[in-house]
Amino acid sequence: MSAGPARGSVTVVGLGPGDPRLLTESARAALDAAQDLIGYQPYVARVPERAGLARHASDNRVELDRARHALDLALSGRRVAVVSGGDPGVFAMAAAVFEAVEHGPREWRDLDIRVEPGITAMLAAAARLGAPLGGDFCALSLSDNLKPWTVVSARLEAVFRAGFAVALYNPISSARPWQLGQALALAAEILPAVTPVIFARAVSRPDESVRVLTLTEARTAPADMATMILIGTPTTRLIEREGQTPFVYTPRSVAG
Ligand code: SAH
Repeated sequence: MSAGPARGSVTVVGLGPGDPRLLTESARAALDAAQDLIGYQPYVARVPERAGLARHASDNRVELDRARHALDLALSGRRVAVVSGGDPGVFAMAAAVFEAVEHGPREWRDLDIRVEPGITAMLAAAARLGAPLGGDFCALSLSDNLKPWTVVSARLEAVFRAGFAVALYNPISSARPWQLGQALALAAEILPAVTPVIFARAVSRPDESVRVLTLTEARTAPADMATMILIGTPTTRLIEREGQTPFVYTPRSVAG
């Protein structure tokens, strides 16, 4: 190897759903090795401060700027960690970093760029209930910031008709108040009214709340940006328990 300038690195780190015990050892090692920490403010706040770690918290929805900042710092020789909640490849920073690399200066391609996976919200939420995603399932972001609503609703209709369980990320925000209602109205046109729907909020955080509803009940249930919604299939089962949230599972087998 030629003795060039110190080669920096960018590691895109998944912080998991909230509880620090759900952070992988490998992700923790990447955070411990980092000199710069970049991400949306609430995620940066989850990483303890320490000497030698420069923190660059930014606002939401500036993912590409954040990615370019990380790559520039790495080019100057720094070890940079870019943090996302859950898994960085699920509606998060990893794709933004690679989008920046594809369209950015050639030197960025020679950097040491890695992704450290994390436990994504839908798997953390599913584990609380049992196995609601035990058969085929898919994940959709309800946000229409990066894709038109016509695409979101066409995809929703296709997956409801195909019999997938569906994990809905980004169900609602103050700027997107009506999308969840439309998604559930569409579900109600296709799926039985008693289909189990789970509203899982702030899973693994101190303010966690998890509710198991029917599709009809779900249409008037409150949700916010910290909520993830799992819509079951016609085969999804509830196992009722005295005084406790029922177990929810989707059998692995489907009749032919
Ligand atoms: N990369 C993240 C998802 C980012 S999109 C991941 O893999 O989990 C942000 C959305 O994820 C939120 O609007 C919410 O729908 C969901 N979410 C993230 N953390 C959550 C948690 N702890 N509990 C419930 N939903 C969560």
